[in-house]
Amino acid sequence: MTSTPSPSPQSSPAKGEAANPSPQPAPLVRGEGSPITPSLRSSHAKGEEVRAPVPVPQPESDRYWEGLRRSEIWMRRCEDCKKAYFYPRDICPHCFSRRTQWFRSTGRGTIHTFAIAHRAPHPGFADKVPYVAAIVELEEGARVPTNLVGIDPDPAKIRIGAPVKPVFEKLTDTITLLKFTLA
Ligand SMILES: [Zn+2]
Repeated sequence: MTSTPSPSPQSSPAKGEAANPSPQPAPLVRGEGSPITPSLRSSHAKGEEVRAPVPVPQPESDRYWEGLRRSEIWMRRCEDCKKAYFYPRDICPHCFSRRTQWFRSTGRGTIHTFAIAHRAPHPGFADKVPYVAAIVELEEGARVPTNLVGIDPDPAKIRIGAPVKPVFEKLTDTITLLKFTLA
C-alpha cells in the first residue's frame, strides 16, 4: 500500500499563511540522510595519521626480536626431526617435539613465493602500496613471511627461487623488522 504524502507534513496550526517558508519539506528519499555513511567515514578518518600495527614480542620469540636489533637472525630448530622453523616457538611444528634450540641463521635465502599488494589491508599501509609481500626460505629451511624491499613491485622483475639477503628495518626502539632484498 502506497501512502500518498500528507499535504502538510509540518502541519502548521495556522493554515498556509507565513508559517511555512519551504513548501516542499525535503521529500526524504529512503536511505538519504542515513547516519550510516557519515559514521563509517568518521571512524576511519579522525584527522590523525593511522599507523600500521607493530608486532608485540612474546616470551617465546624474545630472542628473535633481540637478535634483529643487533642485525642478527635467530631461528629455532628441532633436535629430533632436525627441521628449522618459523615463527619461533618452544614446540616443533613438524613433529611436536619439545627438544628445540635457537640457532643463528646466515640470512641467506631464496624467494619461495610472493604477492604484490596494490590495496592496503589496513589504513596504516595506505602510503606503502604497492609493496611486495613474500615468503623467503632461509638456507637452513625455515620459511619466513616478510617483505621484499629495494625492488620494483613488478611481477616481471621478481623470480621465484631468486637469492635474497636480509635487510634490517628499525621500526621502534624494541622492534626491528626482518625484510629481504635481492642478493
Ligand atoms: Zn621436530
